[in-house]
Amino acid sequence: MIPVSSSTLDSNKAISSVPVDTDWQTQMAKSFRTPKDLLHYLNIDEKKLPYKVDHDNAFRLRVSQHFADLINPSDAFDPILLQVLPRIEEMQVADQYGANPLHENDFSPVPGLIHKYANRVLLITHQACAVHCRYCFRRHFPYQNQRVTDDTLKQSINYIASNPAIEEVILSGGDPLSLNDEQLGSLLERLDRISQIRTIRLHSRTPTIIPARITESLLAKLRTLSKKIVLVLHINHTNEISDSLRQQLRRLRACNVHLLNQAVLLHQINDSADTQVRLCQTLFDLDVLPYYLHCLDPVQGAHHFEVDEARAQSIWQEMQSKLSGYLLPRLVREIPYKTSKTWINNANDTERY
Ligand SMILES: *Cc1c(COP(=O)(O)O)cnc(C)c1O
Ligand code: SF4
Repeated sequence: MIPVSSSTLDSNKAISSVPVDTDWQTQMAKSFRTPKDLLHYLNIDEKKLPYKVDHDNAFRLRVSQHFADLINPSDAFDPILLQVLPRIEEMQVADQYGANPLHENDFSPVPGLIHKYANRVLLITHQACAVHCRYCFRRHFPYQNQRVTDDTLKQSINYIASNPAIEEVILSGGDPLSLNDEQLGSLLERLDRISQIRTIRLHSRTPTIIPARITESLLAKLRTLSKKIVLVLHINHTNEISDSLRQQLRRLRACNVHLLNQAVLLHQINDSADTQVRLCQTLFDLDVLPYYLHCLDPVQGAHHFEVDEARAQSIWQEMQSKLSGYLLPRLVREIPYKTSKTWINNANDTERY
Protein backbone atom coordinates (compact mmCIF):
# COMPACT_ATOMS: atom_id res chain seq x y z
CA MET A 1 0.00 0.00 0.00
CA ILE A 2 1.20 3.47 -0.79
CA PRO A 3 0.49 5.92 2.01
CA VAL A 4 -1.37 8.94 0.74
CA SER A 5 1.04 11.25 2.53
CA SER A 6 3.94 10.28 0.23
CA SER A 7 2.33 12.29 -2.55
CA THR A 8 2.32 15.41 -0.39
CA LEU A 9 6.08 15.10 -0.07
CA ASP A 10 6.50 14.63 -3.82
CA SER A 11 4.47 17.70 -4.60
CA ASN A 12 7.09 19.84 -2.92
CA LYS A 13 9.78 18.62 -5.26
CA ALA A 14 11.18 21.19 -7.63
CA ILE A 15 10.22 20.83 -11.27
CA SER A 16 13.31 19.38 -12.85
CA SER A 17 13.98 18.24 -16.40
CA VAL A 18 11.36 19.18 -18.96
CA PRO A 19 10.86 16.46 -21.57
CA VAL A 20 11.89 17.09 -25.16
CA ASP A 21 8.91 17.73 -27.44
CA THR A 22 9.44 14.87 -29.88
CA ASP A 23 10.28 12.39 -27.15
CA TRP A 24 6.67 11.26 -26.78
CA GLN A 25 6.42 10.20 -30.41
CA THR A 26 9.46 8.01 -30.06
CA GLN A 27 7.99 6.53 -26.88
CA MET A 28 4.70 5.94 -28.67
CA ALA A 29 6.46 4.20 -31.57
CA LYS A 30 8.51 2.03 -29.22
CA SER A 31 5.51 0.78 -27.24
CA PHE A 32 5.34 -2.92 -26.49
CA ARG A 33 3.04 -4.60 -29.01
CA THR A 34 3.09 -8.27 -27.96
CA PRO A 35 2.64 -10.08 -24.64
CA LYS A 36 5.93 -11.85 -25.30
CA ASP A 37 7.90 -8.58 -25.50
CA LEU A 38 6.21 -7.11 -22.45
CA LEU A 39 6.67 -10.22 -20.29
CA HIS A 40 10.27 -10.51 -21.43
CA TYR A 41 10.94 -6.87 -20.52
CA LEU A 42 9.37 -7.36 -17.10
CA ASN A 43 11.21 -10.62 -16.63
CA ILE A 44 7.95 -12.45 -15.96
CA ASP A 45 7.87 -16.17 -16.64
CA GLU A 46 4.60 -16.78 -18.43
CA LYS A 47 4.45 -20.38 -17.22
CA LYS A 48 4.31 -19.18 -13.62
CA LEU A 49 1.31 -16.94 -14.16
CA PRO A 50 -1.92 -18.20 -12.58
CA TYR A 51 -3.83 -17.36 -15.78
CA LYS A 52 -3.39 -17.93 -19.50
CA VAL A 53 -2.11 -15.20 -21.77
CA ASP A 54 -3.78 -14.68 -25.15
CA HIS A 55 -1.06 -14.19 -27.76
CA ASP A 56 -3.32 -13.86 -30.79
CA ASN A 57 -5.81 -11.23 -29.73
CA ALA A 58 -6.99 -9.04 -32.60
CA PHE A 59 -7.08 -6.04 -30.23
CA ARG A 60 -3.32 -6.02 -29.84
CA LEU A 61 -1.43 -5.37 -26.68
CA ARG A 62 -0.11 -1.86 -26.54
CA VAL A 63 1.69 -0.23 -23.65
CA SER A 64 4.47 2.33 -23.27
CA GLN A 65 7.66 1.57 -21.43
CA HIS A 66 6.80 4.33 -18.96
CA PHE A 67 3.57 2.57 -17.99
CA ALA A 68 5.21 -0.86 -18.00
CA ASP A 69 7.83 0.46 -15.58
CA LEU A 70 5.06 1.05 -13.04
CA ILE A 71 4.17 -2.67 -12.98
CA ASN A 72 5.41 -4.75 -10.08
CA PRO A 73 6.66 -7.87 -11.89
CA SER A 74 6.44 -10.06 -8.80
CA ASP A 75 2.68 -9.55 -8.58
CA ALA A 76 0.71 -11.53 -11.18
CA PHE A 77 -2.34 -9.48 -10.22
CA ASP A 78 -0.61 -6.13 -10.44
CA PRO A 79 -3.36 -3.59 -11.19
CA ILE A 80 -1.53 -2.16 -14.20
CA LEU A 81 -0.49 -5.51 -15.65
CA LEU A 82 -4.08 -6.77 -15.56
CA GLN A 83 -5.24 -3.71 -17.49
CA VAL A 84 -2.87 -4.26 -20.40
CA LEU A 85 -2.14 -7.99 -20.69
CA PRO A 86 -4.57 -9.95 -22.91
CA ARG A 87 -5.82 -13.05 -21.11
CA ILE A 88 -7.80 -15.90 -22.63
CA GLU A 89 -10.86 -14.83 -20.64
CA GLU A 90 -11.31 -12.24 -23.39
CA MET A 91 -12.48 -15.08 -25.66
CA GLN A 92 -15.47 -15.83 -23.44
CA VAL A 93 -18.76 -15.00 -25.06
CA ALA A 94 -21.13 -13.39 -22.57
CA ASP A 95 -24.84 -12.77 -23.00
CA GLN A 96 -25.78 -9.12 -23.35
CA TYR A 97 -22.20 -8.22 -24.26
CA GLY A 98 -22.15 -6.79 -27.77
CA ALA A 99 -19.62 -5.35 -30.18
CA ASN A 100 -21.02 -1.84 -30.10
CA PRO A 101 -22.85 -1.60 -26.77
CA LEU A 102 -23.58 2.11 -26.95
CA HIS A 103 -25.06 2.31 -30.45
CA GLU A 104 -23.01 5.43 -31.04
CA ASN A 105 -23.42 5.16 -34.81
CA ASP A 106 -27.03 6.20 -34.42
CA PHE A 107 -25.98 9.63 -33.12
CA SER A 108 -23.42 10.56 -35.71
CA PRO A 109 -24.61 13.33 -38.06
CA VAL A 110 -21.11 13.67 -39.50
CA PRO A 111 -18.49 10.88 -39.47
CA GLY A 112 -16.38 11.34 -36.35
CA LEU A 113 -18.91 13.48 -34.50
CA ILE A 114 -21.32 12.10 -31.91
CA HIS A 115 -24.15 14.38 -30.87
CA LYS A 116 -26.04 12.44 -28.26
CA TYR A 117 -26.36 14.95 -25.40
CA ALA A 118 -28.09 18.23 -26.20
CA ASN A 119 -25.49 20.89 -25.31
CA ARG A 120 -22.28 19.01 -26.06
CA VAL A 121 -20.75 16.97 -28.83
CA LEU A 122 -18.05 14.39 -28.85
CA LEU A 123 -15.50 14.72 -31.60
CA ILE A 124 -13.46 11.66 -32.48
CA THR A 125 -10.10 13.12 -33.30
CA HIS A 126 -7.76 10.17 -33.59
CA GLN A 127 -8.33 6.42 -33.60
CA ALA A 128 -5.15 5.47 -31.83
CA CYS A 129 -4.47 5.29 -28.10
CA ALA A 130 -1.13 5.19 -26.31
CA VAL A 131 -2.34 2.10 -24.49
CA HIS A 132 -4.84 -0.62 -25.24
CA CYS A 133 -6.94 -1.08 -22.14
CA ARG A 134 -8.31 -4.59 -22.17
CA TYR A 135 -11.72 -3.49 -20.87
CA CYS A 136 -12.17 -0.78 -23.50
CA PHE A 137 -15.63 -0.35 -24.95
CA ARG A 138 -14.11 1.01 -28.13
CA ARG A 139 -12.24 -2.20 -28.93
CA HIS A 140 -14.79 -3.13 -31.59
CA PHE A 141 -15.54 0.42 -32.62
CA PRO A 142 -15.93 0.78 -36.39
CA TYR A 143 -13.16 3.33 -36.67
CA GLN A 144 -12.89 2.85 -40.40
CA ASN A 145 -16.26 4.52 -40.79
CA GLN A 146 -15.24 7.27 -38.40
CA ARG A 147 -11.89 8.09 -39.94
CA VAL A 148 -11.15 11.74 -39.44
CA THR A 149 -10.11 13.59 -42.57
CA ASP A 150 -9.68 17.30 -43.21
CA ASP A 151 -13.01 17.14 -44.95
CA THR A 152 -14.99 15.46 -42.15
CA LEU A 153 -13.32 17.79 -39.66
CA LYS A 154 -14.47 20.78 -41.66
CA GLN A 155 -17.98 19.30 -41.75
CA SER A 156 -17.88 18.75 -37.98
CA ILE A 157 -16.78 22.30 -37.31
CA ASN A 158 -19.54 23.61 -39.59
CA TYR A 159 -22.07 21.41 -37.82
CA ILE A 160 -20.97 22.73 -34.43
CA ALA A 161 -20.84 26.36 -35.55
CA SER A 162 -24.33 26.20 -37.05
CA ASN A 163 -25.84 24.55 -34.00
CA PRO A 164 -26.24 27.19 -31.27
CA ALA A 165 -27.29 24.60 -28.66
CA ILE A 166 -23.76 23.21 -28.61
CA GLU A 167 -21.75 24.86 -25.83
CA GLU A 168 -19.05 22.31 -25.27
CA VAL A 169 -16.89 20.25 -27.59
CA ILE A 170 -15.32 17.12 -26.22
CA LEU A 171 -12.26 15.86 -28.02
CA SER A 172 -12.17 12.13 -27.64
CA GLY A 173 -11.06 9.11 -29.61
CA GLY A 174 -9.23 6.93 -29.40
CA ASP A 175 -7.26 9.72 -27.87
CA PRO A 176 -6.97 13.38 -28.95
CA LEU A 177 -3.41 13.53 -27.65
CA SER A 178 -2.44 11.02 -30.32
CA LEU A 179 -2.63 13.99 -32.68
CA ASN A 180 0.62 15.90 -32.98
CA ASP A 181 0.90 19.44 -31.64
CA GLU A 182 0.38 21.00 -35.03
CA GLN A 183 -2.83 19.06 -35.79
CA LEU A 184 -4.21 19.45 -32.30
CA GLY A 185 -3.21 23.11 -32.12
CA SER A 186 -4.99 23.94 -35.35
CA LEU A 187 -8.14 22.10 -34.24
CA LEU A 188 -8.13 23.89 -30.87
CA GLU A 189 -7.71 27.22 -32.61
CA ARG A 190 -10.65 26.59 -34.92
CA LEU A 191 -12.89 25.55 -32.04
CA ASP A 192 -11.75 28.50 -29.96
CA ARG A 193 -13.10 30.84 -32.65
CA ILE A 194 -16.67 29.46 -32.48
CA SER A 195 -18.46 32.05 -30.40
CA GLN A 196 -21.12 29.97 -28.64
CA ILE A 197 -18.59 27.41 -27.41
CA ARG A 198 -17.83 27.93 -23.73
CA THR A 199 -15.68 24.92 -23.02
CA ILE A 200 -13.28 22.70 -24.89
CA ARG A 201 -12.78 19.42 -23.12
CA LEU A 202 -10.19 16.76 -23.83
CA HIS A 203 -10.59 13.17 -22.70
CA SER A 204 -7.21 11.54 -22.63
CA ARG A 205 -5.37 8.65 -21.08
CA THR A 206 -2.11 9.64 -22.77
CA PRO A 207 -0.66 11.89 -20.03
CA THR A 208 -0.75 8.86 -17.72
CA ILE A 209 0.78 6.51 -20.27
CA ILE A 210 3.37 8.90 -21.74
CA PRO A 211 3.72 12.01 -19.54
CA ALA A 212 6.14 13.52 -22.05
CA ARG A 213 3.12 14.09 -24.32
CA ILE A 214 2.47 17.32 -22.40
CA THR A 215 4.96 19.28 -24.44
CA GLU A 216 6.04 22.88 -24.09
CA SER A 217 4.42 23.69 -27.43
CA LEU A 218 1.11 22.15 -26.35
CA LEU A 219 1.18 24.18 -23.13
CA ALA A 220 1.99 27.31 -25.11
CA LYS A 221 -1.02 26.70 -27.34
CA LEU A 222 -3.32 26.07 -24.38
CA ARG A 223 -2.26 29.42 -22.89
CA THR A 224 -3.50 31.25 -25.98
CA LEU A 225 -7.06 29.87 -25.90
CA SER A 226 -9.93 31.98 -24.66
CA LYS A 227 -12.35 29.16 -23.76
CA LYS A 228 -12.39 27.17 -20.56
CA ILE A 229 -10.18 24.14 -21.05
CA VAL A 230 -10.96 20.93 -19.22
CA LEU A 231 -8.77 17.84 -19.33
CA VAL A 232 -10.40 14.65 -18.13
CA LEU A 233 -7.69 12.16 -17.26
CA HIS A 234 -8.27 8.45 -17.06
CA ILE A 235 -6.51 6.94 -14.08
CA ASN A 236 -7.85 3.79 -12.47
CA HIS A 237 -5.34 3.16 -9.72
CA THR A 238 -2.87 5.17 -7.62
CA ASN A 239 0.00 3.05 -8.97
CA GLU A 240 -0.50 4.74 -12.36
CA ILE A 241 0.59 8.11 -10.99
CA SER A 242 4.31 8.54 -11.60
CA ASP A 243 6.53 11.44 -10.59
CA SER A 244 6.69 12.65 -14.18
CA LEU A 245 2.90 12.63 -14.42
CA ARG A 246 2.74 14.70 -11.21
CA GLN A 247 5.14 17.19 -12.72
CA GLN A 248 3.14 17.48 -15.94
CA LEU A 249 -0.13 17.97 -14.07
CA ARG A 250 1.44 20.88 -12.24
CA ARG A 251 2.44 22.45 -15.57
CA LEU A 252 -1.11 22.00 -16.89
CA ARG A 253 -2.56 23.61 -13.79
CA ALA A 254 -0.19 26.51 -14.25
CA CYS A 255 -1.87 27.03 -17.67
CA ASN A 256 -5.25 27.13 -15.97
CA VAL A 257 -6.38 23.78 -17.36
CA HIS A 258 -9.12 22.29 -15.18
CA LEU A 259 -8.24 18.72 -14.31
CA LEU A 260 -10.77 15.95 -13.73
CA ASN A 261 -10.43 12.19 -13.63
CA GLN A 262 -12.58 9.34 -14.73
CA ALA A 263 -11.97 5.77 -13.67
CA VAL A 264 -13.58 2.47 -14.54
CA LEU A 265 -14.47 0.08 -11.75
CA LEU A 266 -12.65 -3.15 -12.59
CA HIS A 267 -12.72 -6.56 -10.96
CA GLN A 268 -9.44 -7.44 -9.16
CA ILE A 269 -7.95 -4.08 -10.16
CA ASN A 270 -9.60 -1.31 -8.18
CA ASP A 271 -12.84 -2.78 -6.80
CA SER A 272 -12.40 -1.86 -3.16
CA ALA A 273 -13.40 1.28 -1.30
CA ASP A 274 -9.90 1.67 0.15
CA THR A 275 -8.28 1.60 -3.30
CA GLN A 276 -10.78 4.14 -4.58
CA VAL A 277 -10.47 6.43 -1.55
CA ARG A 278 -6.68 6.45 -1.88
CA LEU A 279 -7.00 7.28 -5.57
CA CYS A 280 -9.38 10.19 -4.91
CA GLN A 281 -7.15 11.64 -2.18
CA THR A 282 -3.99 11.30 -4.26
CA LEU A 283 -5.70 12.95 -7.22
CA PHE A 284 -6.78 15.88 -5.08
CA ASP A 285 -3.20 16.34 -3.85
CA LEU A 286 -2.48 16.98 -7.54
CA ASP A 287 -5.42 19.35 -8.03
CA VAL A 288 -7.41 16.74 -9.95
CA LEU A 289 -11.05 16.25 -9.04
CA PRO A 290 -12.57 12.77 -9.33
CA TYR A 291 -15.39 13.08 -11.87
CA TYR A 292 -16.83 9.72 -12.86
CA LEU A 293 -16.47 6.18 -11.65
CA HIS A 294 -17.83 4.14 -14.52
CA CYS A 295 -19.41 0.76 -14.40
CA LEU A 296 -18.09 -1.31 -17.24
CA ASP A 297 -19.91 -1.12 -20.54
CA PRO A 298 -21.00 -4.58 -21.64
CA VAL A 299 -18.48 -5.06 -24.42
CA GLN A 300 -17.69 -8.53 -25.70
CA GLY A 301 -14.37 -9.73 -24.27
CA ALA A 302 -14.45 -7.65 -21.09
CA HIS A 303 -16.88 -9.67 -19.00
CA HIS A 304 -14.17 -10.85 -16.60
CA PHE A 305 -13.62 -7.25 -15.47
CA GLU A 306 -17.21 -6.72 -14.42
CA VAL A 307 -18.15 -5.64 -10.92
CA ASP A 308 -21.86 -6.17 -10.45
CA GLU A 309 -23.98 -3.14 -9.78
CA ALA A 310 -24.92 -4.01 -6.20
CA ARG A 311 -21.23 -4.35 -5.26
CA ALA A 312 -20.39 -1.16 -7.11
CA GLN A 313 -23.01 0.64 -5.07
CA SER A 314 -21.77 -0.77 -1.79
CA ILE A 315 -18.19 0.27 -2.67
CA TRP A 316 -19.45 3.73 -3.52
CA GLN A 317 -21.39 4.03 -0.27
CA GLU A 318 -18.30 3.11 1.71
CA MET A 319 -16.36 5.76 -0.26
CA GLN A 320 -19.04 8.27 0.61
CA SER A 321 -18.53 7.61 4.30
CA LYS A 322 -14.77 8.23 3.97
CA LEU A 323 -14.51 11.16 1.55
CA SER A 324 -15.57 14.78 1.46
CA GLY A 325 -18.49 15.29 -0.88
CA TYR A 326 -16.42 17.11 -3.49
CA LEU A 327 -13.96 14.20 -3.70
CA LEU A 328 -16.63 11.66 -4.47
CA PRO A 329 -16.88 10.66 -8.14
CA ARG A 330 -20.36 10.01 -9.52
CA LEU A 331 -20.95 6.31 -10.01
CA VAL A 332 -22.36 6.07 -13.51
CA ARG A 333 -23.42 3.72 -16.20
CA GLU A 334 -23.99 4.48 -19.84
CA ILE A 335 -27.38 3.34 -21.03
CA PRO A 336 -27.92 3.35 -24.80
CA TYR A 337 -30.25 6.09 -26.03
CA LYS A 338 -30.22 7.98 -22.69
CA THR A 339 -29.50 11.69 -23.06
CA SER A 340 -26.98 11.75 -20.24
CA LYS A 341 -24.93 9.33 -18.17
CA THR A 342 -27.05 7.54 -15.59
CA TRP A 343 -26.08 8.00 -11.95
CA ILE A 344 -26.39 4.78 -10.03
CA ASN A 345 -24.90 5.93 -6.74
CA ASN A 346 -27.81 4.74 -4.66
CA ALA A 347 -29.46 1.35 -4.87
CA ASN A 348 -32.90 2.81 -4.16
CA ASP A 349 -32.63 5.17 -7.14
CA THR A 350 -32.35 2.37 -9.65
CA GLU A 351 -36.06 1.99 -10.27
CA ARG A 352 -35.89 5.34 -12.04
CA TYR A 353 -34.56 3.69 -15.19
C1 LIG B 1 -19.97 10.72 -21.87
C2 LIG B 1 -20.35 11.42 -23.07
C3 LIG B 1 -20.35 12.82 -23.11
C4 LIG B 1 -19.93 13.65 -21.92
O1 LIG B 1 -20.85 13.57 -20.91
P1 LIG B 1 -20.60 14.30 -19.53
O2 LIG B 1 -21.63 13.72 -18.63
O3 LIG B 1 -20.75 15.74 -19.77
O4 LIG B 1 -19.20 13.98 -19.12
C5 LIG B 1 -20.77 13.44 -24.26
N1 LIG B 1 -21.16 12.74 -25.36
C6 LIG B 1 -21.17 11.40 -25.35
C7 LIG B 1 -21.61 10.67 -26.57
C8 LIG B 1 -20.76 10.69 -24.21
O5 LIG B 1 -20.75 9.36 -24.23
S1 SF4 C 1 -7.26 4.88 -23.61
FE1 SF4 C 1 -9.51 4.95 -23.49
S2 SF4 C 1 -10.21 4.66 -25.60
FE2 SF4 C 1 -8.05 4.03 -25.52
S3 SF4 C 1 -8.06 1.82 -25.13
FE3 SF4 C 1 -7.94 2.82 -23.13
S4 SF4 C 1 -10.06 3.03 -22.43
FE4 SF4 C 1 -10.08 2.63 -24.65
